[in-house]
Amino acid sequence: PSPDDPPYLRGLNAPQREAVLTLDGPVLVLAGAGTGKTAALTARLAHLLWTRRAYPSEILSVTFTNKAAREMRERVRHHVGDAVEGMPWLGTFHAIGAKMLRRHAELVGLQSNFTILDTDDQLRLLKQLIVANDLDEKRWPARQLGGLIDGWKNKGLTPDMLDAGEAEHFANGKGQALYQQYQDRLRALNACDFGDLLLHMLTILRTHRDVLAQYQQRFRYIMVDEYQDTNSVQYLWLRLLAQERKNICCVGDDDQSIYSWRGAQVENILKFEKDFPGAKVIRLEQNYRSTPHILAAAGAVIANNSGRLGKELWTEIDAGEKVRVIGVWDGPEEARRVGEDIERARIREGKSLDEFAILVRAQHQTREFEDRFIAIGLPYRIVGGFRFYERAEIRDALAYLRLVHQPADDLAFERIVNVPKRGLGDKAIAKIHMLARAEGIPLLAAAARILDTDELTPQARRALGSFVGDVARWSNLLKSSPERGEGPSQSDGGGGARQATTFESGRIGSLPHTELAQIILDESGYTAMWQADRTAEAAGRLENLSELVRAMEEYETLGAFLEHVSLVMDNENNADEPKVTIMTIHAAKGLEFDTVFLAGWEEGLFPSQRSLDEGGLASLEEERRLAYVAITRARRLATILHAANRRIYGQWTSSIPSRFVGELPKEHIEEESTMSGGASLWRANWSEHTDPFAHVGRGTGRGPGWQRAAAPSSTFTTAPKRVVENRGSAVSLGNKGRDDLSLGMRV
Ligand code: ATP
Ligand code: MG
Repeated sequence: PSPDDPPYLRGLNAPQREAVLTLDGPVLVLAGAGTGKTAALTARLAHLLWTRRAYPSEILSVTFTNKAAREMRERVRHHVGDAVEGMPWLGTFHAIGAKMLRRHAELVGLQSNFTILDTDDQLRLLKQLIVANDLDEKRWPARQLGGLIDGWKNKGLTPDMLDAGEAEHFANGKGQALYQQYQDRLRALNACDFGDLLLHMLTILRTHRDVLAQYQQRFRYIMVDEYQDTNSVQYLWLRLLAQERKNICCVGDDDQSIYSWRGAQVENILKFEKDFPGAKVIRLEQNYRSTPHILAAAGAVIANNSGRLGKELWTEIDAGEKVRVIGVWDGPEEARRVGEDIERARIREGKSLDEFAILVRAQHQTREFEDRFIAIGLPYRIVGGFRFYERAEIRDALAYLRLVHQPADDLAFERIVNVPKRGLGDKAIAKIHMLARAEGIPLLAAAARILDTDELTPQARRALGSFVGDVARWSNLLKSSPERGEGPSQSDGGGGARQATTFESGRIGSLPHTELAQIILDESGYTAMWQADRTAEAAGRLENLSELVRAMEEYETLGAFLEHVSLVMDNENNADEPKVTIMTIHAAKGLEFDTVFLAGWEEGLFPSQRSLDEGGLASLEEERRLAYVAITRARRLATILHAANRRIYGQWTSSIPSRFVGELPKEHIEEESTMSGGASLWRANWSEHTDPFAHVGRGTGRGPGWQRAAAPSSTFTTAPKRVVENRGSAVSLGNKGRDDLSLGMRV
């Protein structure tokens, strides 16, 4: 480092500088979380512009999210100033693919103003094709076909490239023909779906040498962040574009590959050196984000995976607090505890709410936190997804409940009259509207009345008749349900007296609103609609629906619950106000927060039940990489929570802590339980498998084997050279020849 360094180089370490300054030839930066990969990539971009090695339009720069692209643009602007007017090729694969495709659309039979279809449009189209091919849509749902087609597109396969095995998956071999018809339809509509943005461009680059040559010339430099999560089509596309100049710099971390379910192939990072012979591989080892305890915890968990490249990580950051592992009684207590901790830190330490994040494995987990934070007035934001009550399936379900509760709710009627599809066309619905307006009556009433006329086609009449009949029946059920039902008591958290059996007993003999809700969702065909759906999101939507029914339990009546929901919906957060962030681990990739809460570390939730049931070792290892990503988002403090009880699909089940909790090294965690009893039971349960806590000291009065005696407080300061054996991976607490505190960890 010299004082003459341009601003973007200041503070970078030697290997980071190397990544920035090695401009010619292929470069792979392979390094663990928080080592400054993204920072180096950003500096490299600034350097290319500062030194005028390339015009902004000659750099192709791929980020994983639009937000990451915005941030990178802002930082570069900060370093090199406004002279940088825009970087047209800085963005996500999709954004860049769309921009390119508009220029060459005619080469794949589109016009440059083509429409990009959303998932709903895509499904409608597929459904039409399935029906036109005389297939039973129930047996062969459009969503399944959509999922297959997305998968093929992710692999870079056009219809003519499918082998027999691939197409076999749908309608006894008709998959290929349907894929072809779908592509033809899209072309006729001058439209494409998201997968096409890259697939069409790949086809063009493969078949039009002139276009390929033009882009190979144009892009003097190519840079890719989060390279471990590129899928095949993205990989093939990059490889073509980089083949001529070979100035490609990819950064990534094989341990953070968490999108294989979307076709990402971690192998891409592993074969980089083969694809680009003579590539310079740079390893970054200093972590600038997290404390040694956090790093050691994350490193020990990921060490349980096989086939890793392995990395060295150390930090100069002070030891700080150990990773906290907190056992709570149930979900509501988990949310309450996190809320309290955040409030306390905000008051005592004067921290901004922006410094806190809650990371969950599954979308439906956000609901409990949202309800709690609304109750205590703690502002929050949901990133990378909708707030729970704003999700499509929740709004649909609520519309059913609103209509049954309040038959004049026209908005609710409109939303669900044809969801799931009942064969009511726009015409029929327009007639209902007309009658309602003419008579000044609600839509539901108009719908009932129109049945007595001959306005509708027989099919529409049958469909509407059964819908109106259903709503009437549900409304009667609601009337017969007790206004003051003996709903379950609110969870009392620490008390712990409640048990699964007594929980249900107050309801016998009457129909509680939760059961009514379940009946409505089932009888309306709404649940079945999502059950028939075989895409990855469907399971999450079904979980959300169960979570909705669960949320209702905390209210005595349907009316009280709906009132709560409208208040929640109204709770529009002030945009500039600091807020706690709630999001999935997937959405948190690349981000960092001072304080991170990792909720629901229980077997069956994290790792997910699906990964345990279906995926074998590969799925489990992907879950473990998620755990690694999750822990490494924290700068200063990570808190892992697990509940002893969860309500899943209407059943209280006792859960055991995630195996990942058992993989945390004891010297880097601080355990705590808020339970006075019961803990020993599930703790014993888990111990049967691996007994990860055999080392745990016998606590006093808190259930056997739970509370750990305070460990020596200064593992780092007193024994900097000690080598600790840790599940086969040596954690060396060396000081790297520095006076300051550091942690070296070979994992
Ligand atoms: P991830 O794998 O999670 O994407 P990353 O390797 O991309 O992490 P960055 O996000 O680039 O890491 O950097 C992590 C943190 O370290 C950021 O706060 C960044 O500003 C800081 N940082 C990076 N390099 C340095 C450096 N040389 N000196 C000081 N801080 C740095
Ligand atoms: Mg990064």
